[in-house]
Amino acid sequence: MQIPGHIDPVVTHRSITPRGDGRIDLMGLNHLQIRQLFEESQLDAKAAKLRSKQVFHWIYHRGVTSFEVMTDIAKTMRPWLADRFVIGRPEVVEAQVSTDGTRKWLLRTDDAQDYEMVFIPDADRGTLCISSQVGCTLNCRFCHTGTMRLVRNLTPGEIVGQVMLARDALGEWPKGNMASVADDDEDDDDVGHYTADGRMLTNIVLMGMGEPLYNFDNVRDAMKIVMHGDGLGLSRRRITLSTSGVVPMMARAGEEINVNLAVSLHAVTKEIRDEIVPINRKYGIDELLRACAEYPGVSNARRITFEYVMLKDKNDSDDDAHELVSLIRQYKLPAKVNLIPFNPWPGAIYECSDPERIKRFSNIIFEAGISAPIRTPRGRDIMAACGQLKSSSEKKSRAELDRLAEEKQAALG
Ligand code: SAH
Ligand code: SF4
Repeated sequence: MQIPGHIDPVVTHRSITPRGDGRIDLMGLNHLQIRQLFEESQLDAKAAKLRSKQVFHWIYHRGVTSFEVMTDIAKTMRPWLADRFVIGRPEVVEAQVSTDGTRKWLLRTDDAQDYEMVFIPDADRGTLCISSQVGCTLNCRFCHTGTMRLVRNLTPGEIVGQVMLARDALGEWPKGNMASVADDDEDDDDVGHYTADGRMLTNIVLMGMGEPLYNFDNVRDAMKIVMHGDGLGLSRRRITLSTSGVVPMMARAGEEINVNLAVSLHAVTKEIRDEIVPINRKYGIDELLRACAEYPGVSNARRITFEYVMLKDKNDSDDDAHELVSLIRQYKLPAKVNLIPFNPWPGAIYECSDPERIKRFSNIIFEAGISAPIRTPRGRDIMAACGQLKSSSEKKSRAELDRLAEEKQAALG
């Protein structure tokens, strides 16, 4: 089957994170890219292959940021590496911890763009919510990120860098002696080795700023490193990519990234979804649900999550709940529904549904045999909840929000 092609609206030709000092940041590069850089720096092919393998392991598996500690690399070689390369991390502008343990980081790229990530600890897991873009080209009317212009796609280094930084902050790099690095082929080992194994950071969700399927290549390349057994070693079953419904990229996401899929559905009629998730005017509900049914690997063991933000008198009636059940049945989707209480932000035009309404909505779906838990808002005291990221940005007037919505809609075509 032909898998639809590339439609990232903002093309970034760079996979390397830009830097001012002339050295190259290896963060976000895979074995092959590191090997090519070493060859371009005049290492012979055999040495470049071995060294890239070692360096990859040190960077992503061990979390080191200095070549000096790479004990299986000759002492004379380490300054050679340090003169040419760095192992970067996103700059932290602000780190906050909520009373409920949720952590939020405001991060800055080398070209001074701000983006955020959030860590949410639970009893049995710890979920890191990462960003894929600075801003978003889409304009979901309940989402704060949607009120920002897209500044740019994040590079693979800036995406993987978020996970690296979280592991730094949580102190979760393996300690002790390193197992020797086998000199085998690159692509044979991309199965995660870690499960929970006592770590706090067990899961990743691409639910921060941005639409991951509009930055497909960089998100894919970053996740490959996160999943690589010699990299961060996180199983694909512990990673969830959330999309607003970029239908032409969903099959590719399944084939090439193959992580869990979450879909921001939020409404069951064309009229309401057109209003609150405007990409619906381009790819409608039927098309979207068909793409969900065809998502590679979807099964009862690997269900699709439908995210549904609860907006008072907008999408929260009993009829909406019944229609949601019938759509899931019509497309025979192994699915669960995540009900998200709306988090208001300055200037937002919606209100959150009442708790009793949300409960009733949830019950209708549960009674039909479909799981529909209500997500508890976390980190409210530090503005870490969904859709509130980059809370430092200014409040826009209603007229400005409307104009922005029109501009973004026109750009979408
Ligand atoms: N662009 C992707 C991923 C980022 S948004 C997407 O839209 O799926 C991640 C989730 O946060 C989405 O389900 C989104 O609808 C939800 N969200 C955004 N703003 C919110 C808000 N103010 N309150 C509650 N959920 C919100
Ligand atoms: Fe973009 Fe997702 Fe926010 Fe919609 S909900 S504006 S797609 S980040």
